[in-house]
Amino acid sequence: MSEKLSFVTPTANSPWGTYLSQVDRVVPYLGPLARWVETLKRPKRALIVDVPIEMDDGTIAHFEGYRVQHNMSRGPGKGGVRFHPDVTLEEVMALSAWMTIKTAAVNLPYGGAKGGIRVDPKKLSLQELEKVTRRYTSEIGIIIGPHTDIPAPDVNTNAQIMAWMMDTYSMNVGGTATGVVTGKPLHLGGSLGRVKATGRGVFVTGREAARRLGLDLRGARIAVQGFGNVGSVAAELFAEAGAKIVAVQDHTGTIVNDKGLDLAQLVPISRTDGVVGFKAGGDIVPNEDFWDIACDILIPAALEGQLTADRAKKTTAKLVLEGANGPTVPQADDILAERGVLVVPDVICNAGGVTVSYFEWVQDFSSFFWDEDEINVRLDRIMMNALNQIWDTADKHKITLRTATYAVACERILMARQERGLYP
Ligand code: NAD
Repeated sequence: MSEKLSFVTPTANSPWGTYLSQVDRVVPYLGPLARWVETLKRPKRALIVDVPIEMDDGTIAHFEGYRVQHNMSRGPGKGGVRFHPDVTLEEVMALSAWMTIKTAAVNLPYGGAKGGIRVDPKKLSLQELEKVTRRYTSEIGIIIGPHTDIPAPDVNTNAQIMAWMMDTYSMNVGGTATGVVTGKPLHLGGSLGRVKATGRGVFVTGREAARRLGLDLRGARIAVQGFGNVGSVAAELFAEAGAKIVAVQDHTGTIVNDKGLDLAQLVPISRTDGVVGFKAGGDIVPNEDFWDIACDILIPAALEGQLTADRAKKTTAKLVLEGANGPTVPQADDILAERGVLVVPDVICNAGGVTVSYFEWVQDFSSFFWDEDEINVRLDRIMMNALNQIWDTADKHKITLRTATYAVACERILMARQERGLYP
């Protein structure tokens, strides 16, 4: 008897459409909790804000910003902020929903939220970037807070932007509120290990998946799409474990080297010139060639919707590690499953970032900070426990790891919903 949402028209492969189909697949495993499932198909709250700033040349520019709180049944909203020219309300809705599933999958006491601004930050000066960040933070300030909704970095946002967000929120409430965002600089309540946490989680879950597949990481061939915070750190950790990074793609193009790319040189060059800046270390090939490169492990770590049905048919990988959120469209998921390619889904594979964000938030409240070893040990333990539980569920029901992750997470979320009851 519920009405369809009027403000979004998802298609089969759009981010929100992808999310809805992932939820539909889990319904048979929810038992009596299935009566609450509609709550997962609509965001609790979605805010659209105008972000006007005065540009360096004196003109006034307006940008569209969003903050979506998908579900808060298990705790405050948690999720990053993305600055990208293609950001839409629908995309932010899907990303917020994936945060709900992710925080529940690793059993953190959070709900799911996400934010974004439709802006190309590469076209802004540093001053303009700060103005956009501060005005956006002020506009969404009515719904975020250390106990209500805690933003973090995502695509094109970083520790400096988190520092501006923390400062703006703090100025508005009249006291330093470090716990309002995570991913902050270390001396402003940030946590050791946060920058590398997502890439590390991709590595930890990937290493375990490879072990279960009988795939030796030494000499394994890996292709990585997206060479930012997530992709580059995961690549470095796999290379340290003996794997060869044979192809890397970012927004500037694709570079391949059959013998393995030299990451010590590629990583710093990619930060300024993109991966194509490392021409001396490999061959630049057309972007579409990335998807059928001979590899054992494929790590999509850029944006959603990249692993399409056609690309799923082509890939030679035995294992896909979803560093990005929502990189695989549902049809591609089915093709990979039919072809026997194991997919470690985003909602567990890239949960390392939100897990250390949780550690950061806890440390901010207690004003007591842990050393990096302690962070990494706790991170690895949480990731491995979550993955093992999900794997058991997958084995029990003979379902994919994605559906198993949704089964574990949705049960926790909907149980919380049922026990809290409906207000009023
Ligand atoms: P980032 O901004 O550091 O890096 C993004 C990378 O993707 C860059 O290398 C960029 O060049 C590349 N890219 C952008 N558009 C591309 C395109 N069309 N084709 C190929 N490459 C392209 O972002 P990030 O933090 O590494 O995030 C990457 C993904 O991981 C996103 O889906 C994000 O939501 C997800 N994620 C990030 C975190 C985190 O802690 N940063 C946590 C969980 C999930």
